[in-house]
Order: sequence, then structure tokens, then C-alpha cells
Amino acid sequence: MSADGPCRGLSLNTATVRQQWTLKEMIPACRHFGFTGISPWRDQIAATGLGETAQMIEGEGLAVTGVCRGGMFPWADAAGRAAMLDDNRRAIEEARTLGAECLVLVVGGLPPGSKDIEGARAMVAEAVDVLLPEARAAGVPLAIEPLHPMYAADRACINTLGQALDLCDLLGDGLGVALDVYHVWWDPMLSAEIERAGQRLLAFHVCDWLVPTRDLLLDRGMMGDGVIDIPAIRRQVQAAGFAGHAEVEIFSAETWWTRPPEEVLATCRERYLTAV
Ligand code: ZN
Repeated sequence: MSADGPCRGLSLNTATVRQQWTLKEMIPACRHFGFTGISPWRDQIAATGLGETAQMIEGEGLAVTGVCRGGMFPWADAAGRAAMLDDNRRAIEEARTLGAECLVLVVGGLPPGSKDIEGARAMVAEAVDVLLPEARAAGVPLAIEPLHPMYAADRACINTLGQALDLCDLLGDGLGVALDVYHVWWDPMLSAEIERAGQRLLAFHVCDWLVPTRDLLLDRGMMGDGVIDIPAIRRQVQAAGFAGHAEVEIFSAETWWTRPPEEVLATCRERYLTAV
């Protein structure tokens, strides 16, 4: 029933139209606009219900290219550590139920009041080490998403692909990386680290870096509207062995979140074909 036929390799990260649509509205729309994958956020899964989400996605024949997100590991005290582990265990279970290709990990920044970024990174390693056997048993690969260094304090103290891969080397099987062009495009080591990543590339997120970027979180651009050479990065990840979807993930408070969602998805599709 697709307007233009399936567009193989195109996935929707549901943050892209989160202001306009519920997950229940997005799932059939994905297929209508030719997306063959979806990556839902956990608050949207909770609002719809896990069972119904799984059923709807399966009914539309969409691949689940990720679940967003687990992580936020560094803790302030023992209660915080326990709550963090519980939440991540629920995230693993949700990803398992949805048959997700990975659970995306945004690892978290500094605990409140802390200036110890190395300590925060050690907490990330410790938490992933605890959770990894459980994720392996559930058949859910964990994908560390390095975030741009501007988020080091509050969202992720893992900021480069190299850092994420060092953690993968340390902790072993079942752990990989989610590469988001918005976060890593500037990295002079990017090509080498993509090659190093190889089979550990578990997800590929696309949007664009606008000049100027007016808001560090909520002003991501549509592919083709910014300065990232997305096709060059895509060629590299494919050459490294990644055969999965390109997942469009655009947080855009003043532009794409204000447009009709049908226009957003149609534009994603068009730009996927011309700018990814
Ligand atoms: Zn991302």
C-alpha cells in the first residue's frame, strides 16, 4: 500500500516526528512512505504499550533498527546505581521483545556535583560490564553511541568512536557502536576508527550539521541541508561491513517538528535517495 514503494535501507528514528505524531500513528506511516525500519524511543513504547508496539511493527513488516535508549550510567549514590541498572534491564527486555537489532546506549555524563570525568567513564565501563552478560543472554547487542563532546557533561562522557571502541575491546562480545554522523563527522580519526569498528558497527544514524547550529540539542538539519559529507561516511561504514539501515534521527524544534509529519517523512525519503 505504499505510495512510492519500499525504500530499502531507510529507517525512521521516531524522535524525528515526535512532536506531531504518536508512535501508533508513525508505524503505519513508515510503511506508507517506504521506510523499511523504525527505531522507537522508550517513552513512546511505554505510551503505546510494549505488546501492542511489537505487534504493530511486526504487522507492518518493519525492521527495528534500534531501541532508544539505555545508558545514563554514572550514579551519585547506591540507590542511583540500583535504579540505573533496573532501568537498563527493562530497556534490554523491551529491545528483546521488539526483536531490535540493538539497544542504543547514551552513556551519561557527570553525576550531580562531580568534576571527575574519568570517574564517570569508569562508572560507564563498570555498568556495561554488569549488564553485558544479561544483554548477551537476551540476544540484544548493546550499541554505545559516542556523542559530540559538547554533551560530555550532561549526556555522554564517551565522545569519539575511538573511545567507544576501546570500551568494546575491554568488555568483549555483544557490545558495539552506534555511529551518528551528527556526533562524529568532525573527528580527524573517523575513517580509521570506522575501519577498526568493522562488524561492531550496529547502527548508522543520519541528519546534518547546520551552519550556524542555533541549539546544540534541537537544531539538527535534514540530510543535505548542512556540511556533513554523509555519502562519504556511508561508503566507509559499508566498506567496513555494515549492511544495515540508515536511520534518520532529527531533533528540530523550530523547523522539522513544526512541519506536517507527512512532509517530513516524504522529505526524509527524498533526501535519503539524494543526500545519503
Ligand atoms: Zn543518534
